[in-house]
Amino acid sequence: MSQPIPLVDLKAQYATIQSEVDRAIRRVVENTNFIMGSEVSNFEKAFANFCGVKHCVGVGSGTAALELVLRALGIGPGDEVITVAHTFIATAEAISAVGALPIFIDIDPQTYNMSSSALVQTINERTQAIIPVHIYGQPADMTTIGAIASQHNIPIIEDAAQAHGAIWAGRKVGGLGRAACFSFYPGKNLGAYGDAGAVTTDDDEVAAQVRLLRNHGRHDKYLHEIKGFGHRIDALQSAILGAKLPFLDEWTAARQRLAARYTELLSDLELMLPSVDAQAESAWHLYVIRTPLREEMFDHLKTQGIGAGVHYPIPLHLQPAYADLNYSPGDLPVTEAVAKSCLSLPLYPEMSDEQQDRVVAAIRTFLEKQGWTEPNN
Ligand SMILES: *Cc1c(COP(=O)(O)O)cnc(C)c1O
Repeated sequence: MSQPIPLVDLKAQYATIQSEVDRAIRRVVENTNFIMGSEVSNFEKAFANFCGVKHCVGVGSGTAALELVLRALGIGPGDEVITVAHTFIATAEAISAVGALPIFIDIDPQTYNMSSSALVQTINERTQAIIPVHIYGQPADMTTIGAIASQHNIPIIEDAAQAHGAIWAGRKVGGLGRAACFSFYPGKNLGAYGDAGAVTTDDDEVAAQVRLLRNHGRHDKYLHEIKGFGHRIDALQSAILGAKLPFLDEWTAARQRLAARYTELLSDLELMLPSVDAQAESAWHLYVIRTPLREEMFDHLKTQGIGAGVHYPIPLHLQPAYADLNYSPGDLPVTEAVAKSCLSLPLYPEMSDEQQDRVVAAIRTFLEKQGWTEPNN
């Protein structure tokens, strides 16, 4: 059988940047400045510059970024934070971690991002923040969500964990709300070699507060101004991320090309393909199709050595972890329909056209066997 095609191929990426990454790792290991220092501040400056914002504060993970921004904004018990259920659980866990209540609203059936009409219906005097998620790399409708939020004077926290470099209405994510949270989990568009994350913001106070909170509430070694956390980004991860960042635009362009190619090659099949808002440029973290035969197609691809994924099969409002919120099936119909039918196809910048052709051929064969398309179409 031919070589398996994984969902993401981090080895292929390492092969293209080995000397830069190895040099960065060696530099940190040799100078032994493992905590904070210039590796961290250099990466923070570079990533702030990349996002077009004033501040970037490196933290231990995307989850920590979300939690620390909520704390920096003073959100806690008694407060409600509106977000989506069609996301990784970290978005909601951060809200729960500060003692606030996550309020899950439905998504748009085209983009799978936060529905602004659901937002209008849900927002109330207890709402203290809104966390739209730029799901799969496509920015949420920040124009409409931003207008609603400013009407109510409520801050927006972007969950940009999947959307490094994505653009909404000509502007990069990371600077479209009060603050944005990024993950550098290894499989993300900009991935560390372990856990890492960042907060970006143009707000001096939020940046200063997150800086204190991530490092035990201190600026000076022995003076703790507030009770904080051990949520620093590693110097080693910062050095690796700094070595990788110059390649990010190139990688995003490769993802965009492959996504357009998937759409072209799959367009005659009985599938729902991703649709990108006219104001958005997706960073294409994932290429997600929808089919009622999701389970069967997933299994078929697996037998062909093709690693598909499901992001995400169980929406947060129906997770056991959130049973205490008393949501029921049917509460978020679009979210639930997407969860049942979504399938993420292999996509990574180093993927070859030949590999992509194999994925497309496997999908075509499967659908023909199901009688969903005419073989000679
Ligand atoms: C990955 C991810 C996170 C969490 O990031 P970690 O770095 O794994 O903590 C949060 N939100 C979304 C949408 C993600 O995809």
